[in-house]
Amino acid sequence: MPRSPTEPLLLTPGPVSVSLTTKQVMLRDRPSGDVEFQEDVTLARTYLVSLINGQGSYSAVPIPGSATYANEAVIATLVPRGGKVLIHSNGVYGDRLVEICAARGIACAVLRTPPFTPASAEQFEQALAADAAITHVFVVHCETSTGVLNPLEPVAEVCRRHSKGLLIDAVASLGAVPIDARKLDFQAVTLSSNKCMQGVPGVGWAIVQSDALESARGNSDSLTLDLWDQNQHMEHSGAFRFTPPTQVVAAFAQACREHAAEGGTEARLERYRRNWRRLVDGMRQMGFVTVVPDGFASPIVATFRYPNHPDFSFEALFQGMKRRGFIIFPGRLALADTFRIGCMGDVTESDIADAMEALAETMQEMGIAELGRADPAPAA
Ligand SMILES: *Cc1c(COP(=O)(O)O)cnc(C)c1O
Repeated sequence: MPRSPTEPLLLTPGPVSVSLTTKQVMLRDRPSGDVEFQEDVTLARTYLVSLINGQGSYSAVPIPGSATYANEAVIATLVPRGGKVLIHSNGVYGDRLVEICAARGIACAVLRTPPFTPASAEQFEQALAADAAITHVFVVHCETSTGVLNPLEPVAEVCRRHSKGLLIDAVASLGAVPIDARKLDFQAVTLSSNKCMQGVPGVGWAIVQSDALESARGNSDSLTLDLWDQNQHMEHSGAFRFTPPTQVVAAFAQACREHAAEGGTEARLERYRRNWRRLVDGMRQMGFVTVVPDGFASPIVATFRYPNHPDFSFEALFQGMKRRGFIIFPGRLALADTFRIGCMGDVTESDIADAMEALAETMQEMGIAELGRADPAPAA
């Protein structure tokens, strides 16, 4: 189906395209004390807690802004003065957690692994053994800059054994990859209103263990980035402390209803997997090569190398795709000569098939008929 370039499909790792019905609920003005708005807030908070199986022991706290605001609020609220955070980084979003600590003057240690390598339980063990001051461990679940999915069980097990607070950036996975609080026993997990939840961007969420939240009173040295205070407002009056982003929250509640109607996390994962499979197969058929070994790849985004062809230009590919109604994404600086295509959001396998057609046409337009035989998929 041809697409309109003025209403492009975003095949990017965020913002992602959202359904028309989710966008439509934003057309109404709402007073913040409105009963229906409060019901939307409650629905969203309850739904998020149920997604992680955290009923009774977790609270979902919204922070207006993007997901980075939620990550910063988690660090500001849950890491006490004198605390220290061990951060695992194998990409841009791990590095951003380090930046947050630096900006806030919070002590941190960094466990760095190569871009396509998750950290092992032994590496977490060693990092904790080397520094008794560490109180918390912050990890990125899906590292969106590469698409690598860092497994959570090993670090959760190490944190449990050493009684360290586990904090998880699941901004690019929650809603599409199962995350079970009963198994992982984390203190907090963060997500975006957009990305895999498919609401519009504008609110970051932290789902926080109630005990951890209770003991965090007075920790935050920020008026706005204080999860404890935002939570107690929500609990006592059902309201945001300051003017709520009413349209964004209403759209998020609708996105939660649509997530449930689709069949929850499992069904969404299935759809993203089919998108990813179609994308990676289609690209490989054209001769493109993926960067991340399939075994570590998450089904939300794929990274491809620039083909070794004198007439290839990413700019021309981007513009050709844009004219055909698809937005793709450059790679990250650390991965020179790569580009990314996302599979998340309100995107189906048939959208991906259309995108593959558009990509083939664009390559033709560049005068590239053949890329030659595709290299085999890199081994995990
Ligand atoms: C997108 C993303 C963020 C940051 O989210 P913003 O909404 O851009 O602030 C953080 N972590 C991960 C893993 C992400 O994918």
